[in-house]
Amino acid sequence: MKKVYLDNASTTQIRTEVVAEMAKVLAEDFGNPSSTHAFGRNSKNLIELSRKSIAKSLNCSAQEIIFTSCATEANNFIIKSCIKDLKVTRIITSKIEHHAVLHTVQILQSQNPVTVEYVNVLPSGEIDIVHLTDLLSVEGKTLVSLMHVNNEIGTVLSLERIAKICKQYNAYFHTDTVQSIGKTALDLQVLPVDFLVASAHKFHGPKGIGFAFIRKGLVLTPLLLGGDQEKGLRAGTESVHNIAGMAKALELSYTHLTEEEKYISGLKEYTVSQLKTHFPGVRFNGDPATTFYNILNVLLPFPEEKTAMILFHLDMKGIAVSRGSACQSGSVKPSHVLAEILADEDLKKPSLRISYSHYNTLEDIDYLIENLKLI
Ligand code: PLP
Repeated sequence: MKKVYLDNASTTQIRTEVVAEMAKVLAEDFGNPSSTHAFGRNSKNLIELSRKSIAKSLNCSAQEIIFTSCATEANNFIIKSCIKDLKVTRIITSKIEHHAVLHTVQILQSQNPVTVEYVNVLPSGEIDIVHLTDLLSVEGKTLVSLMHVNNEIGTVLSLERIAKICKQYNAYFHTDTVQSIGKTALDLQVLPVDFLVASAHKFHGPKGIGFAFIRKGLVLTPLLLGGDQEKGLRAGTESVHNIAGMAKALELSYTHLTEEEKYISGLKEYTVSQLKTHFPGVRFNGDPATTFYNILNVLLPFPEEKTAMILFHLDMKGIAVSRGSACQSGSVKPSHVLAEILADEDLKKPSLRISYSHYNTLEDIDYLIENLKLI
């Protein structure tokens, strides 16, 4: 059966060069990086070369990159430490953050003397910057946590603008860049963000590895206690093959960025035009002209009763797309992101998230459209 994978915001296919790099490290570079003998030193060296390579891609210093098991861990580490170590008493975030931030903030609020404010979300799915400025004008040691690219609707936050506003009001700025790292250039010498996070499997790397960028001078204490790995910030023997795989994946993503962005943008434009041609009345959650180039969230003009079976029907045809974020697929609960921007009656209608990579083709889109027409 034909298989079409259009769920790249959920996870991506690993590049063959990355698999080769990881297989080499697994087979040959098995020393424990903490060992002082040559085997250990070799593994340690691989880790530090990977750190340098990632730092070079983001134009930051290698010491500012801390490896974690995933972005969720990096988000947890940063937000918890901001309360514990930087004595933040207020967090400003939004209701359209990924649960890795939203739930973490909510739970931390119930356990700590910290207030949480939610910045308004505009009907377009964008953050209301005027409201953010109003919230920031009230005194208090503040962390702003806002994602760069929304994983469900693809809306893009101007990191430069928000980071500058945060600086102006003396607030720390953390941004979840899981959907944008490796897919758009970020220059951390220019962007005054304090913290950001990434997960390798979102940019054609392995699962189970990510990193936190922590701006030099911000002193945090560890989430995991034990050994001295990662400057004592993240104890536990490093996953050397995953780290090397992540560095390779990021390097390749940035090497091919221009051509892949152009190609993927073309796929998205083609999908929009095909949907408009074949499904009069189709709408989009987030304006496709301004949302991120690899995410398209479409509200199909189908009757409500078809909502539940669309994903199932497409799956039977070998097509992987998503309703909202991956963790919610199959759940009856509406997406917390769409709930912020859609009216109740539209929320009941079928919305699909189509998310692309350079591995997709125009034929994939035609196959999707063909099968949507059969519903
Ligand atoms: N943040 C965003 C925006 C995401 O899209 C995801 C994954 O879907 C995460 C955080 C969590 O990433 P991970 O599951 O790799 O920790």
